[in-house]
Amino acid sequence: MKEQISDLRELQEVDLAIDRIDVAITSGDAELQMQREAIEKRQGAIAEFLARLGSGTERRQQLEGEIQESQALIKDRQNKMMKVQTNREYQSLLKEIEDAKNANRQREEELIKLMEQDELLHKKNEEESAILGGEESRLAVETASREEAAVKLASKRQKLAKEREGKVKKVRADLLRKYEQIRAKRDGLAMVGVNRGVCYGCYMNVPPQLYNELLREDKLHMCPTCNRLLFYSPDND
Ligand SMILES: [Zn+2]
Repeated sequence: MKEQISDLRELQEVDLAIDRIDVAITSGDAELQMQREAIEKRQGAIAEFLARLGSGTERRQQLEGEIQESQALIKDRQNKMMKVQTNREYQSLLKEIEDAKNANRQREEELIKLMEQDELLHKKNEEESAILGGEESRLAVETASREEAAVKLASKRQKLAKEREGKVKKVRADLLRKYEQIRAKRDGLAMVGVNRGVCYGCYMNVPPQLYNELLREDKLHMCPTCNRLLFYSPDND
């Protein structure tokens, strides 16, 4: 049994090393994914600035056209005023001119606001585009280094998987089954050390009687609290 315990411990070491690699691979992927999402969000914001700039330009052109039309109308009515016969006609032309001038004043005000908005949007667009450029080049660099790391991790993982095959063969089938079951249920940790009476899987005390039995290493014991397989692990182990 002593040997089986030590074989299981070795298997657990290899499995943990493989798990660590898997975590490194997924967390690297997740980090890149987060960066990609941030970039997409910024691209969306920039697209919105550009759309607003576009509709602002359209509105400005419309207003400028209306102003020109109004100016032509004012000129026309001013010419007509010189030829009017009655005061009523004169007043009516005067009102038309005043109305057109007022409308143009409002259009001018709107134009000024639009230009201010334009300027702000241009500025925001420039700022966001600069940040986006930085983010994109950072992502490119990190993707490249991530790919390099992933290749290394994959080959390391392959080596460990091979090593695992060898270790698995040494463990008795029923013990292996038990080990795999516990590993699946307990976050990949099935075989844990007990030191000074404490289980290093759940950090609870094991009963003194059990602790004494563990020292003998003649039987595979389980932690009564976390149900993991236990081995005796002195301070320097
Ligand atoms: Zn435990």
